[in-house]
Amino acid sequence: MKNFALIGAAGYIAPRHMKAIKATQNSLVAALDPNDSVGIIDSYFPDADFFTEFERFDRHIDKKHRAHDGASVDFISIASPNYLHDSHMRFALRSGADAVCEKPLVLNPWNIDGLLELEKDTGQKVHTILQLRLHPGILALRDKVNAQPGDHKHDVDLTYITSRGHWYLQSWKGDEKKSGGIATNIGVHFYDMLQFVFGQLQSNVVHYSAPTKAAGYLEYAKARVRWFLSLDVNDVPEDVRAAGQRTFRSINVSGDEIEFSGGFTDLHTRSYEEILAGNGFGLEANRVAIETVADIRTASPQGRNGDYHPFLG
Ligand code: NAD
Repeated sequence: MKNFALIGAAGYIAPRHMKAIKATQNSLVAALDPNDSVGIIDSYFPDADFFTEFERFDRHIDKKHRAHDGASVDFISIASPNYLHDSHMRFALRSGADAVCEKPLVLNPWNIDGLLELEKDTGQKVHTILQLRLHPGILALRDKVNAQPGDHKHDVDLTYITSRGHWYLQSWKGDEKKSGGIATNIGVHFYDMLQFVFGQLQSNVVHYSAPTKAAGYLEYAKARVRWFLSLDVNDVPEDVRAAGQRTFRSINVSGDEIEFSGGFTDLHTRSYEEILAGNGFGLEANRVAIETVADIRTASPQGRNGDYHPFLG
């Protein structure tokens, strides 16, 4: 049984980590969050120590590490705001633990280089949650694409509208310095999935970029992709909205709809299973997606020119 600690324990995604730690028969021994709304811990690990101050958490983890009594923390899971991941992973590695970090791993590609150095110095590893790579629908698509002749390029439309209320722009998620912006915070799942399925990234064009909406074109070895991301309920197609839905997700590959809406919730547990079995995704696995989001963030949007997504109107 491995001992885990969790940073960002009061957040939305933290319970998925608690569930995954429990489901893989491991133990959460300590948790940190400046926000103390963490009663959910009792549903999973009522004996876990909890800290609202980093300094006390640090002291606790360090004492466990130095005790050499088998109770030290083996893994530190990180579910804090995106811009803190880099620092929290560094803390994990320096504490003699491996890190299990949420997406996006970091905001900029050069952060990966720094972390690689730290892995070398400490002998510890960073593992990441790239859960779409474990999604059965995505794996089936990858197999299909790999079985086709090398020079075949698919035409892909990726549309992801996931409505968020006014709170979003008031939170760290709406602050580009903290979240990286919509393409980084929401899109990174898809840019990683696209290169995982369609191979080498060849071109990256941004057509539109705003705090709640972004669109562009990505070309891979095996696909031309028009993408559209939005947090605005008004972008949900009218017929779908009329049916009471506030979300619209579609990945259309050469006319075929890829079913990926279901089967999301257990992918954290699947990620933990793979990490614990030594098959996790490490730092380098994140590089292309992190380069993609950093380039999207700094690109000058081209407007409605070239091959833009039809939802741009
Ligand atoms: P959230 O805002 O609900 O939770 C973040 C938590 O981190 C909060 O409880 C906050 O108090 C805490 N926090 C803030 N500063 C901290 C600090 N210095 N030290 C420790 N904790 C601190 O956000 P969320 O939606 O749970 O997202 C958390 C992370 O998970 C983000 O990186 C996000 O991108 C990622 N995420 C992943 C998925 C997925 O499907 N894999 C889904 C949602 C979010």
